[in-house]
Amino acid sequence: MNWLNHELYIEPIDAYIDPARPVRRAIITHGHADHARPGHEHVLATPQTIAIMKQRYGANCAGSFQELDFGETLVDGPVTITLFPAGHILGSAQVRLAYQGRVAVVTGDYKTHADSTAQPFELVPCDLFVTEATFGLPVFQHPDPTREIARLLASVEAQPDRCHVIGAYALGKAQRVIKLIREAGYDAPIFLHGAQEKLCAYYAGQGVELGNLQKALDRDRGSFPGHIVIAPPSALRDRWSRRLPDPVVCQASGWMTIRQRAKQSGVELPLVISDHADWNELTATITATGADTVWVTHGREDALVHWCRSQGLKAEPLYMQGREEDAGE
Ligand SMILES: [Zn+2]
Repeated sequence: MNWLNHELYIEPIDAYIDPARPVRRAIITHGHADHARPGHEHVLATPQTIAIMKQRYGANCAGSFQELDFGETLVDGPVTITLFPAGHILGSAQVRLAYQGRVAVVTGDYKTHADSTAQPFELVPCDLFVTEATFGLPVFQHPDPTREIARLLASVEAQPDRCHVIGAYALGKAQRVIKLIREAGYDAPIFLHGAQEKLCAYYAGQGVELGNLQKALDRDRGSFPGHIVIAPPSALRDRWSRRLPDPVVCQASGWMTIRQRAKQSGVELPLVISDHADWNELTATITATGADTVWVTHGREDALVHWCRSQGLKAEPLYMQGREEDAGE
């Protein structure tokens, strides 16, 4: 499509989707740092994504903001813009663009399986589907997350003298893990690293019930055994974690499918919990959109491009700057 290029630049309206550098006009799919950057003149996004950007980068992180709710249509000259839920994190959107009878959908990051901390994914029929491919290899087939949480809670019960510290990215993953733990019936206080507090409070304010959360900072060592602590993955390897007596180090990530990776990073209890589509979701979604053209970005492009072509679709990789591996996973 010559009106949308490989940098996700929408030529007729001079706007970019998730640009890597400051631009005049940006449409932002969601709040993760590799998609939402500060410094744009004008930002169009869901109300939740705008709130998250302001919280992370400051209220003046863009010249101006324009909210667009899910399903609401913005007619911008010759282009019609609509945002649909991507099911990835709170407020995450797929961008639907219609121009001269052709429809393109840019997914940002997405997953189609259930997650009660994000608005559920909606399938949007289109001609051009721009998909991420973070887990775009057949080896990535994510298990049911409730099974992973059951393993965690069995370990907590079996080792009451130790604490379980879960490495989980502060935006999206931490809240999802906490919610899954609550839905499994665990109602004891969960302790938070300071980096998790603001975003957990934001999610709770948006109606995502996270139960009794307490600051880990204020506690002495004696209060941790038998409890669960949530911290950014980086904190598991720094001084911060020394306050925890004999912790069982857990990590919640789609990358935990690769056991060797878990072992190398000192993870005792890997939890395969991902906020991205796995191989089967990627291929099923591509088929279901009815798209004749697929652009693949953000991860394992080659395998998915090859699969698309084997299905008779036109497919190309987009090698976008700053989109190597998803830090949120
Ligand atoms: Zn993301």
